Amino acid sequence: MDLFEYQGKQYFARWGIPTSRGGVADTVEEAVARAEEAGYPVVVKAQVQVGGRGKAGGIKLASGADEVRSHAGAILGMDIKGHRVRRLWIEHASDIAEEYYASLTLDRAAKLHLAMVSSKGGVEIEQVAEEDPAAIARLHIDPVDGLSPDQARRLVAEAGLAPSEPGAQEEAAQVLTRLYRCFVEGDADLVEINPLILTPDGHIHALDAKVTLDDNAAFRHPEWEEWKGSAELDERERLARERGLNYIGLDGTVGIIANGAGLAMSTCDVVNQVGGSPANFLDIGGGANAAVMAAALEVINTDPKVAAILVNVFGGITRVDEVARGIVEAISRVELGSPLVLRLDGTNAEEGRRILKEHESERLIVRPTMLEAARTAVSLAGDRSRERDGSQEEGTEGRSR
Ligand code: GDP
Ligand code: MN
Repeated sequence: MDLFEYQGKQYFARWGIPTSRGGVADTVEEAVARAEEAGYPVVVKAQVQVGGRGKAGGIKLASGADEVRSHAGAILGMDIKGHRVRRLWIEHASDIAEEYYASLTLDRAAKLHLAMVSSKGGVEIEQVAEEDPAAIARLHIDPVDGLSPDQARRLVAEAGLAPSEPGAQEEAAQVLTRLYRCFVEGDADLVEINPLILTPDGHIHALDAKVTLDDNAAFRHPEWEEWKGSAELDERERLARERGLNYIGLDGTVGIIANGAGLAMSTCDVVNQVGGSPANFLDIGGGANAAVMAAALEVINTDPKVAAILVNVFGGITRVDEVARGIVEAISRVELGSPLVLRLDGTNAEEGRRILKEHESERLIVRPTMLEAARTAVSLAGDRSRERDGSQEEGTEGRSR
């Protein structure tokens, strides 16, 4: 789960990482009230889960109520890279001497935590990594040992933070050790401060917060509940979650339903291999009954980009005849906007195919293998995409095969 900046800052504050005082506002008048509480000058900040808000005009300084009103009015409702602004964070504005960068992530390949610190903050770290990789100090941290204060100090020195101010260097090292505790005890996958600033009076302070929590740890954080409702989910993912499905939205045109995460991933691969692109990843798990199948089809059906649906089920404990009955019941409940291509194999596959026989049509096609089913689905999706584009030349490669 990704947190909004204001939630990330609330999280940081629990571990003593210095942030500015402020509050959230959903209306212009609330924004003025929060600004009066924070004290002028203030910064009016769009709360959307995407970087580069500053450049997009979603972050403005205001020295009085009138400016807060005009900025809040302009930012609320603004579209930033496809994210609609519904909430603002208003905080007391800081004076900035320098902008730094600090983050902690898990380096899966190294099986270690990775700290990255740079004196070049305020810009996207990917850009720094590309243009001036030496400007980023990196340290791999063994999760068993953790980050020692000495390691944190060395990291600060190596990154060249506040070179002539020992007091600020010590504060920066302290922020890093606190950030590390926030990362570990707070069960985050990512914590990032960009910019981490040096103020003209020599203090270190977090001006932005990016926090991704590890959903697998939700069971030991009842306090995360309050953030779940506000999480910025893709509409399809929200629907899927309501229905208890393990669904991840993608950008393609072939909707995918499979039983088992491995089979769902292989199905995505095969769709790619034959020139198509998956619209989603969806593992319906072991209990592929009618209700689950209907729920899965409903979610996929809400995605306007989907032009064909590929169902790939390999019966093990799940019996294919059950799945077939589920599909028949599901299509009687859900009116599908796209043709359905099925590949059913494994336990009771014969019986399953027999059940579907009388329902087969141009809109419900059964194919004997995964590859053939994928080719059919991709070809149908290509045709449908072309119809929508209104152009005859463009489309996926599917048709020529
Ligand atoms: P992002 O663009 O989405 O990463 O949003 P940030 O919260 O990082 O803000 C972008 C930029 O706005 C920062 O790099 C700062 O230069 C500027 N900014 C944010 N807060 C303040 C503030 O309190 N005072 C000043 N002077 N500038 C700020
Ligand atoms: Mn930032």
